[in-house]
Amino acid sequence: MKKIVFATNNLHKLDEIGKIGKGRLHILSLVDIDCHEEIEETGTTLEENALIKTKFVKTKYGYDCFADDTGLEVEALKGAPGVYSARYAGEGCSFADNMDKLLAALQGIENRTAQFRTVIALVLNGKEYLFDGVIKGKIIEEKRGSTGFGYDPIFMPEGYDKTFAELGNEIKNSISHRAVAMEKLVDFLLKG
Ligand code: IMP
Repeated sequence: MKKIVFATNNLHKLDEIGKIGKGRLHILSLVDIDCHEEIEETGTTLEENALIKTKFVKTKYGYDCFADDTGLEVEALKGAPGVYSARYAGEGCSFADNMDKLLAALQGIENRTAQFRTVIALVLNGKEYLFDGVIKGKIIEEKRGSTGFGYDPIFMPEGYDKTFAELGNEIKNSISHRAVAMEKLVDFLLKG
């Protein structure tokens, strides 16, 4: 079975890719390779951040590896919060702080179009590859639902009348930005 490192310790992400790989890929986490360092995300794009994490593992630990980075891109805010989605309301802020800031920024604005975008960077046999996954939707005016994380209570994917947080993890994970990018990565790894 193909062995590859996923530069994360996020159990939810490890579980998600494990299901998509359906036992055909052996995914190692950072803990599995004894990497306990915090990898700083200093890039200004999702692509840069994903590559920073991937190259860090390859350079310091020698493993072929992939890493992801995700952002919520709001059209009326010229793509913000984007790469800064996790700390939109400031360092150490909560998901609620981020959503409150975004709802305030969009107050009175009619164009609520937004998308989640995930970029996965892969270093394999000395080459770099990028895969992406996008889900389009809109930011509604108040929080609805209680599952998921991040901006889920205010993001309604196109074609649905419920937010990610109302749809539940099973439906969300079958259509999400991350799932789309991960499917592309797994397809590539299994074909190669
Ligand atoms: P990360 O790159 O996966 O750590 O995502 C960065 C930030 O984007 C997170 O801290 C969340 O605020 C937001 N985010 C990423 N994925 C999702 C999602 O599936 N739903 C809601 N928010 C998300």
